[in-house]
Formats: sequence, structure tokens, C-alpha cells
Amino acid sequence: GAQSSIGPIDHYLADLHQRIAGVTDGEIATYIPELARADPETFGIAIATVDGRVYTVGDADHPFTIQSISKAFVYGYTLAEYGRDFVLSHIGVEPTGEAFNSIVLDEVHNRPYNPMVNAGAMAAAELIKGDTPEARIATMLGTMSKHAGRSLHIDESVLRSEQATGHRNRAIAYMMLNSGMIHSAPETILDIYFRQCSVRVSCTDLAVMAATLANDGVNPLTGETALDRDYIQDVLTVMNSCGMYNYAGQWSYEIGMPAKSGVAGGIIAVIPGQIGIGVFSPRLDAHGHSVRGVRVCAEISETFGLHVFRNH
Ligand code: GLN
Repeated sequence: GAQSSIGPIDHYLADLHQRIAGVTDGEIATYIPELARADPETFGIAIATVDGRVYTVGDADHPFTIQSISKAFVYGYTLAEYGRDFVLSHIGVEPTGEAFNSIVLDEVHNRPYNPMVNAGAMAAAELIKGDTPEARIATMLGTMSKHAGRSLHIDESVLRSEQATGHRNRAIAYMMLNSGMIHSAPETILDIYFRQCSVRVSCTDLAVMAATLANDGVNPLTGETALDRDYIQDVLTVMNSCGMYNYAGQWSYEIGMPAKSGVAGGIIAVIPGQIGIGVFSPRLDAHGHSVRGVRVCAEISETFGLHVFRNH
């Protein structure tokens, strides 16, 4: 059928993959020891369209952990469950200009600055509903699975590695408890947060998750609503301003797509109404973004004129 024939987009992606595969800059994250085991050469690209076509090249089905990309989907969940005003009173929408694991908090409003840095993501994780810790994990997995269009699962080795070494995240959680930015046991919140970061995905999953955001919250493969369309603009706005941390300004200037990265080497980028991009390659730049992933998004944006503020 049409979906399996090799067309111009497949040729474009094959050429792009081959060229960017020559880039070997960056370092694999080692602060979570299990991530250090990744093969640095692994490299996949996937693009999913809002009408349900998926184009892939390279290691597009290779599994890795979603890490901070999960923050976008958990934030969307909190908006849909609690509404904008409640969530805004708990988590701001202001970029920090700092790294993802910054301990800086908004003391004026007594809330973390935004949901894309670890502090804000932990405050969002506290809002995940469920009668038991297990039920809350199921809620978190269900939200991400709906965006991906298949059941996602936790990588237990990465989870154990995060739990064993995540002392900086513990420090942030206890600081937030001390100032009343979170209200329940930090260890319970940290457990949910570590688990959401340890969800195993592929590039193809990421592209479909991004395309679901591009498609007003409706998964283009399953037709299922993963996020109420009223909250898509909030998620994409915060991804645009804060998703790439202290590189968000330059990313927006050059690439112009709401995006989110994770330290395992994944990146999602969203072109509203058009496509979702998922890229994976584990070598990271100084900001913690996949070097090849950034290059791929930059080239796609440039080649197809996809900067969201470009109108010609
Ligand atoms: N689990 C990682 C952490 O909390 C996520 C960070 C990231 O992907 N930038 O440190």
C-alpha cells in the first residue's frame, strides 16, 4: 500500500540520517549509571503526520527511556484534571534560564518556575491521581500510553539506577516540601517522578506522541483523545519557552518548534496541525540535549520552512 512504498520523504530522511550519523560530538549521560550503557552510535528518526502516516529511518524502534520528555505529558494531564488556574497556582510558566536540575525556585509566588524543569515536574507528579501508589503509576503510564497509541512500560534497570543516585532530585523535593510547594511525602513523589522518567519508548513512539500534540490531543493512529484540546496550547507554549531549558531561547530562534528533550537522548518537536518529530541518539551537548537530535530538528525546520513564526 501507499504507506509502505518508498517516497520522497523516506529518501530525504535516509539522506539526513546518513549525513548526521557522521556527527560524533557530545557525551552520553553518566550521572544515571544505567544510561552510560547506551550505544553511542544508536540513531533513529521518526516523523508522524496528523493524518496518521509514520516515516522512520535508522534505529527508530530501538528502546530507550523517555526521561524529561515525560514532563510535557504529565503537565498536560494535570491541566486536564485540575484546570489552568489551579495548576498555575502550583507551577509557573516562566523559563529559569538554568539547567534542568536547577535548585532555584520562585520564592515570590512560592512555586517552581515551570513544569519542564525537575522541580516543576515533581510538583506536577504530586498531582497525579490514584487511591494507591500503584494506581497513580497506572494513571501516569496510561496518559503516556494514550499519546503513544500502545502500552508503555517502565525500564526497571534505569528506574533502580535513578532511585540509587537521584539525590539532587531528593534535595529539590525536600526544599519544595520545606517551602510548601509540595504537600505530601517527597519519597512518594520522587518514586512517581523516577518512574515517569524510566518509561521505555522508541523514536516511533515519540513521533506519535508529538503528533498527538500536533493533532489537538487526538492520537492520529488510534483516534483516541489523549489530552483535551483546550490544553494543547498551554503544553506547547511551555515546551516552546522552557522545554529546552537554558537553550530554549536559541532553539526557538533557530528551529522554532515547541520541543522537549530527555537525557537518554530523545527529543520531540511539534509542528501544530502538521507533524510530530521523534529523534534519538544518546550523545548529549552541554545543555543535556542529543547533539544529533538538535541537528536533525534544525535541518528539518530549515529545509521545509517549519519555524512556527515563519508565515511564507
Ligand atoms: N531523570 C532525569 C533527572 O531527573 C531526567 C532529566 C532529563 O531528562 N533532563 O535527572
